[in-house]
Amino acid sequence: MSRFFHSRYASLKQYTPGEQPRDKAYIKLNTNESPYPPSDRVVQAVEQAVKNAHLYCDPSCTLLRREAARVYQVDMDEVLCFNGSDEVLSFAFSAFGEDGVAYPALSYGFYPIFARMNLVEGLPIPLVGQMRIVPEDYHQMGKAIVIANPNAPTGQFLPPEAVEGIVRSNPNHVVVIDEAYIDFGGQSALPLIKKYENLLLTRTFSKSHSLAGARVGFGFGCKELMRDIDTLRCSVNPYNVSSMGQAAGLAALEENGYYMACCKAVAQTRETVRNQLLNLGFSVTPSLANFLFASHPDIPGEKMYQRLRDKGILVRWFNQEGIRDFVRISIGSPRQMEDFMTAVQTILQEERHA
Ligand code: PMP
Repeated sequence: MSRFFHSRYASLKQYTPGEQPRDKAYIKLNTNESPYPPSDRVVQAVEQAVKNAHLYCDPSCTLLRREAARVYQVDMDEVLCFNGSDEVLSFAFSAFGEDGVAYPALSYGFYPIFARMNLVEGLPIPLVGQMRIVPEDYHQMGKAIVIANPNAPTGQFLPPEAVEGIVRSNPNHVVVIDEAYIDFGGQSALPLIKKYENLLLTRTFSKSHSLAGARVGFGFGCKELMRDIDTLRCSVNPYNVSSMGQAAGLAALEENGYYMACCKAVAQTRETVRNQLLNLGFSVTPSLANFLFASHPDIPGEKMYQRLRDKGILVRWFNQEGIRDFVRISIGSPRQMEDFMTAVQTILQEERHA
């Protein structure tokens, strides 16, 4: 740290993204990316867009917002575009966290960091039993709330009725529902933004629309909430989504059916892999996301992670109290998952004979 760094950031802990090693080709099951590459139409749209990269992009993301409004059946002033959903989540902490922000104690690791970074109080709410969020724990919270739905890294899904109960019982605070993984089988709470002025919903194209590297995310809410968030966005970086990102997002939305079919394929693979892991003696939390959270009594999570890595397969292990036995496995293509299962079986056999 230099002696010039603002003292308020002295103890800021940065987010650790999943590793992206370049030393060799890995089967990447560690950052919840889509195993399916962007469609030809998206590639062509980006190729066109880059020809005008000497000009600033549209700061209002007009075409992308218009198409998002059409596909998701909201008004144009009820949606904003971001440089990935991390960006809108950070703004939400800053904009609506004056009384503090509550979030599940086991959830997306960025939430406590957003709280700290935006100088708001973060309040982790413990999970119960098998790492489950209890919706009633968030009723009359007296603070803003952020919940990933489905949650990460467990994949647990709260139905829209449970979300609505939380939103309804906190009329004086904003409830943020982070739907990064909603397209893999959950039912979105998006229609509720028409009914509740305190619901902010975030989405990303990083997983469902094969655009993790393009950085395209969305915020949905009533127009007043959107205006607040937009004030922050335009005070930081009005050109937050590049022209290539906007073009990619627009082309992907125009082929939404294709991407939804990809999500469905991922969800089917997830169920196959879950059953295979259960048959091998793993505990696996039920998941409606594009990942599984699994532990095995014969091998600690870190060792499983390391052994898989040695075999060229990356999964995510969190060095965190209470979940060290687990690894999070992103769902890849059926072929990748066959290789993963073969590696897991070999590792378990070797472990038994060790
Ligand atoms: N929310 C959750 C729960 C996530 O797991 C992620 C991905 N790391 C994000 C939001 C952010 O995704 P992105 O910034 O790529 O849109």
